[in-house]
Amino acid sequence: MYGEKLVLKNLTELELVDFIVSLGLPKFRGKQIFSWIYRDIKDFDQMNNIPKNIRRKLRENSIIGNIEIEEKFESKVDNTKKYLFLLNDGNIIETVAMEYENRLTVCVSNQVGCRMGCNFCASTVDGLIRNLEAWEILDQIMKVQENLGKRVSNIVMMGSGEPLDNYDNSIRFLKLVNEENGLNIGNRHITLSTCGLVDRIEKLADLQIPINLAISLHSPFDDKRREIMPVANKYKIEDIMGVCRYYIEKTNRRITFEYSLIKDKNDSDKEAARLVELLRGMLCHVNLIPVNPIEERDYEKPKIEYINRFKNYLEKNRIPVTIRNSMGSDIGGACGQLRRKFK
Ligand code: SAH
Repeated sequence: MYGEKLVLKNLTELELVDFIVSLGLPKFRGKQIFSWIYRDIKDFDQMNNIPKNIRRKLRENSIIGNIEIEEKFESKVDNTKKYLFLLNDGNIIETVAMEYENRLTVCVSNQVGCRMGCNFCASTVDGLIRNLEAWEILDQIMKVQENLGKRVSNIVMMGSGEPLDNYDNSIRFLKLVNEENGLNIGNRHITLSTCGLVDRIEKLADLQIPINLAISLHSPFDDKRREIMPVANKYKIEDIMGVCRYYIEKTNRRITFEYSLIKDKNDSDKEAARLVELLRGMLCHVNLIPVNPIEERDYEKPKIEYINRFKNYLEKNRIPVTIRNSMGSDIGGACGQLRRKFK
């Protein structure tokens, strides 16, 4: 809802048809209007096959739901673009688009700010301002698509915010983005990353949606994890592993463990060895992310020899592992660099 009005972009096709019928209009109008919305229109008057009196009725009861590109930054080191979007209430969020040869991946934000407090991440510095609604997450994709004139093929829910702390909107977003006559982006092309909210992961597992789940682990030791991630005070690694096994059992999907490597903090052989013990035999994959510096902390990336040593140790022990090359670092678009306002 937006004030008293319904946001049309927040509805599935069926829900939109129901809404149209509730206004005393025929069903087929609902389908027509749904398809207009996915042509990314800004105003009801653009719906030129919908009679004026219906458009008026729509305007009285609803808004389409649009966020606006406030600014766009283009990386000089790779093909990454960062968008600042202005929301209807004046807040600003960031979205990153990464173009590869035959893929366009968009990293969407989920909340304005974040309350998880991971101390290596810029998104959480000012805390949580508010959750995004499902349509505000969806519209990031639509606006990037329109701006680049190219279909988005993959989505990573890895921008600002914790998707499972905004659970209902995240789930609705997954539903909306999957709509056949909408964006029609399959669940398998979507990755949801979480810092490890155990009860929410369990709930998600029960839905059996075939998305890719990524867990931000960052250390195999509880005490070390607590030093960098306050959420570790609430959930132990043992509980995270338990719920991950449950998730795999329910969905048969491989889990990704994200591990931001921080020099002298979590990059030792001891941590690599414990990580191997934890993950041995599990349907999983480790994604190492050399930490991206942020202004508020003096964390550094380990030297490349140490990164490779950590990676080799996992490989030798048959844990599948890749190194994530964060894109867009020159425009503050890399992992952990997204923030509420561009400074
Ligand atoms: N809240 C979600 C998604 C946000 S961030 C989560 O915690 O998973 C996506 C990934 O980037 C997470 O693994 C996060 O820990 C990592 N990240 C955050 N700050 C980073 C930084 N400065 N350098 C590298 N990775 C970082």
